[in-house]
Amino acid sequence: MPSLEPGTVWLAGAGPGDPGLLTLLALKGLAEADVVVYDALVGEGVLVLANPKAILEYAGKRGGKPSAKQPGISLRLVQLAREGKRVLRLKGGDPLVFGRGGEEALALVAARVPFRFVPGISAGLGGLAYAGIPLTHRDTNSAVTFITGHDASGDVPDAVDWAGLSRSSPVLVVYMALKHLARIAGLLREAGRPATEPVALVSHATLPAQRVVETTLGTCVADAEAAGLEPPAILVVGDVVRMRAALDWLGALAGRTLVADPLGRDPQSRTG
Ligand code: SAH
Repeated sequence: MPSLEPGTVWLAGAGPGDPGLLTLLALKGLAEADVVVYDALVGEGVLVLANPKAILEYAGKRGGKPSAKQPGISLRLVQLAREGKRVLRLKGGDPLVFGRGGEEALALVAARVPFRFVPGISAGLGGLAYAGIPLTHRDTNSAVTFITGHDASGDVPDAVDWAGLSRSSPVLVVYMALKHLARIAGLLREAGRPATEPVALVSHATLPAQRVVETTLGTCVADAEAAGLEPPAILVVGDVVRMRAALDWLGALAGRTLVADPLGRDPQSRTG
């Protein structure tokens, strides 16, 4: 495996939370880094794995404080690399999925700082696996769409063709969806997705605090509120959510009884 060399930056993903979901390269970066520049979504469980001599620098928003300005973070990475530091830039999930990893890399390229991308398990993948929801399943969907629930200004992104995606994509996985859940559910309903369509919200996925709310498009706003769900959370819309009745392996470990035929398509099990 490569080493994190002095004067270089690794733009790495930390996965959705469970430290067990780090890649070997991310772990190596943590062990070798002089400085770890991390985001709000990177938790304690991951940071304790850093070299005890490494400096941990926080670059995100927490407790409603404004986030560190993006150009500021990029400049900081350039500065640290030029000082000859081994820099691990650690982001939640995957650095290139709604994570601005590309923007920071562009700044490194412009400054001629050598860098490497270290992919991570995105919350939309790992988080759903921990909720017992496959992204694709042959009986429900052969396509899945990842969407961001808000843009740089904090609004529901105009650039997203919600109506088009509603028509064309059987399963929608929406990041940063909690704040604008009502608006997003409304847009999907207007585009013709039924109120009865299965929906799951997964908050603090893969962490001990993980919570999953199984609901429908028509009732998800009320159910999320009643459950007091907090960010970060992933929204998944589509029939594949029904698979959870069979595949909630984490729930099974805590005593949930799983059903073998969650889609009710096995005639044997229907008559029996
Ligand atoms: N680069 C990250 C996404 C950053 S955007 C990735 O690949 O996962 C931030 C959004 O990611 C949150 O609003 C939430 O929708 C999602 N997210 C990240 N970590 C999460 C977690 N542990 N549980 C649920 N959602 C999570």
